[in-house]
Amino acid sequence: MRAVVYDQFTAEPEVRDVADPVPSDAGVVVRVETTGLCRSDAHGWLGHDDGIALPHVPGHELVGRIHAVGPAVERFRVGDRVTVPFVCACGRCAQCLAGNGQVCPNQTQPGFTHWGSYAELVALHDADVNLIPVPESLDAGAAALLGCRFATAFRGLVHRAGLRSGERLLVVGCGGVGLSAAMIGVALGAEVIGVDIDASALARATSIGVTHTIDSSGLDEDAVLTRIAEAAPAGVQVSVEALGRESTMRLSLLALAPMGRQVQIGLFSSEPTLPLPRIISQELSLHGSHGMPASDYSELLDLVASGALRPQDLIEHRIGLDEAPAALVALASGDRSTGVTVIDVA
Ligand SMILES: [Zn+2]
Ligand SMILES: [Zn+2]
Repeated sequence: MRAVVYDQFTAEPEVRDVADPVPSDAGVVVRVETTGLCRSDAHGWLGHDDGIALPHVPGHELVGRIHAVGPAVERFRVGDRVTVPFVCACGRCAQCLAGNGQVCPNQTQPGFTHWGSYAELVALHDADVNLIPVPESLDAGAAALLGCRFATAFRGLVHRAGLRSGERLLVVGCGGVGLSAAMIGVALGAEVIGVDIDASALARATSIGVTHTIDSSGLDEDAVLTRIAEAAPAGVQVSVEALGRESTMRLSLLALAPMGRQVQIGLFSSEPTLPLPRIISQELSLHGSHGMPASDYSELLDLVASGALRPQDLIEHRIGLDEAPAALVALASGDRSTGVTVIDVA
């Protein structure tokens, strides 16, 4: 098969022919239709993920058709159109049995613990636990984005922070996952405020229904907090930090009303310092979100099927596998100007 491979962290990835994967006993091999270009692929290529063995094929947000099944798979057949959460659970441990496969200690992650979906074929483990059937009518790009960005944002907002209709939601960082959170907030009836330093990111936020946008370039923390307070006189109940920077995490927490809930989605390359006194005095809560188990996807799929949530509207570029190495390098260089990109493999 053809795949995007890198031999060293930060070394130029290339498209080359490699051996086809074979399904594990309880796993499948999927022929990839479309895969998302996600910021965590860039973190992986930069060497921030110590679970990656070299050489490596990135890619963890995908949709495709089953190409081969392992002998122990019961619920799926060759030809089925499926997606998968980027955290694939074992289905047997205490966390999985409690419905929390997204924190399974035995988890596998395509594109991290083994080769991923920037490839014609990808192996996925524990298929009966993790695969999610995808309707034929659903846009391939929209389906791919459900594997990581939309699942992480949905779980964070709905299952972790309990966002309710009519609440004010602040999104700090309007890149791919930030805009996914903003779009879910709009679909759920929240009043969404977006903050970014990039005018094009804010224009995208407006186009998906974000009612207040704040360009924070050149503003200090107090000035941004003042602008947020003007946009949300009744206070911000839920905030999302989608960049993974100490300064924006602090801003996102300080903007919250008493009893506010923060969803932390941005990934950090080093450990940040938190404004803990404020968390204590205002009884703020801080929620991590690490994807969503396959068993919880029906609510998200229903929202997509109803037309209230259209992940495909975030996609600005659809590229081929040959263009993926350069796009990954650009993403890792911090280029945030290009919006969401998906790779159409088939
Ligand atoms: Zn498990
Ligand atoms: Zn991702």
